Amino acid sequence: MQPVTTVAEREVGALLWAGRDPRVVLQELKELGVRCGQIGVPGEMPLEGAATLWRDAIGAEAFVVTAMPVAYVGESYTDIPTVQQTVGFMPEATRAEREERTRAVSDFARELGVGSISCHVGFVPEDANDPHYVAVRDMVRRLCDHCQANGQTFALETGQEPATVLMEFIADVDRPNLVINFDPANMILYGTGDPIEALGIVASKVGSVHVKDGHWPPPNVPGALGTEVPLGQGDVGMERYVAKLKEIGYKNALVIEREVEDHQQRLHDMRQGVELLQGLRQ
Ligand code: MG
Repeated sequence: MQPVTTVAEREVGALLWAGRDPRVVLQELKELGVRCGQIGVPGEMPLEGAATLWRDAIGAEAFVVTAMPVAYVGESYTDIPTVQQTVGFMPEATRAEREERTRAVSDFARELGVGSISCHVGFVPEDANDPHYVAVRDMVRRLCDHCQANGQTFALETGQEPATVLMEFIADVDRPNLVINFDPANMILYGTGDPIEALGIVASKVGSVHVKDGHWPPPNVPGALGTEVPLGQGDVGMERYVAKLKEIGYKNALVIEREVEDHQQRLHDMRQGVELLQGLRQ
């Protein structure tokens, strides 16, 4: 049987993280009523030998992995200062090991026939002369080139900077396979701007999306993040989000993400999210 590699227009998918038996992960996703989605790769997951297991499971379950988000050991999303200190490529001490890890995940994804990897690069400084800005920009260039050789796009997850700053950074990196994984809830959680307006600004670079919901940060609590909630219960406005995706001509999968800690709760909320989106995607 030929592997299935394409998705229908705005097909509903979901995101779960690897690090468990691949068959179990894919079966959980299929029980949500989807046959495509993203498989995240946690920082602590050993990659040795994983490709064979994952390739077999993907084939057996006829699942389409549309992208692989990459996370790193030592990242924490407790509040905005902690994100600044621990997430992505901004922390200098872990930059080299995270570059190496990203290359390794790109190679892992290539073995599974996955055409995109994504990550949070962290808070990119707005000053293009800042030495950290230059280091991160050059690192993203090298990673884009690595992904290009693997036939992949490299996607930046939105949220930690306003859309205009992100677009300036992308223009400066100047690599054709650099795209955005747009996450509307992150714009709200980090208080970086109205997500629908932001989607209009970054439209030409959107390669994939998350469908996630959330509330704005509480007022008068410096550094606080907003709260992520099940689809339809937050401030994104799912109807206007999907309408805007149609307006910009987005056709790739609508990948539901739910970050609640309890796994059964996550699956429950995602299942409801699938139902909600099935009614909106057409
Ligand atoms: Mg996301």
